Amino acid sequence: MSANAIRNISARMVKTSKELYEYGLVRGTSGNISARIPSTDTFLIKPSGVHMGLLKPEELVLVDFEGKKIRGKRHVSAETPMHAAIYRARKDVQAVVHTHAPTATAFGIAGIEILPLQIEMFMLLPRGVPIVPFEAPSSKTLAETVQKKIADHDAVILENHGIVTVGSTVEEACNLNEMVEEAAKIQFTTVMLAGKDAINWAELKKKFKTQNTIK
Ligand SMILES: [Zn+2]
Repeated sequence: MSANAIRNISARMVKTSKELYEYGLVRGTSGNISARIPSTDTFLIKPSGVHMGLLKPEELVLVDFEGKKIRGKRHVSAETPMHAAIYRARKDVQAVVHTHAPTATAFGIAGIEILPLQIEMFMLLPRGVPIVPFEAPSSKTLAETVQKKIADHDAVILENHGIVTVGSTVEEACNLNEMVEEAAKIQFTTVMLAGKDAINWAELKKKFKTQNTIK
């Protein structure tokens, strides 16, 4: 892959990181973002201890699929094993975004899965966003647990921690992260307005499917 192409990916990672910060999905130095370098077994990842709103392209660290640093001045993100496990499991995934999106994270703490109650969300994630049971941040067991669940979901909630989304581009993974937070807010507001019984998942699935909105 050419240096130009790597520069392009780095610039897009920086742009989407800022966006995630501006949307309030990450605060302080929390959260991380990574992108696969096409046709290689490597990916670029945000270093640890760096604010996503202030990330610079030259700070990104290049690592292999075992999470070992290949190039970069800084330490790799603490969640590098989780990102590496996802790239090993999903050949189609080009980018991974992990944030502590506040409303979606609260759903994980309450033990409530996020449902795609709104049509656009249903088209993106027709099976909703499941919760991965709690494992210590940065641990090998967290990486393994997420790897299993992400095999057939593009977004998961990490219990008492945050959310992870994947995509075929950096922008797609970032957009999905924002959409999961949006879906959590819609679900929360619906329950506040009309109570838990207002959410009839079986009915909604029927409605969306009969509208020919999904295959
Ligand atoms: Zn985290």
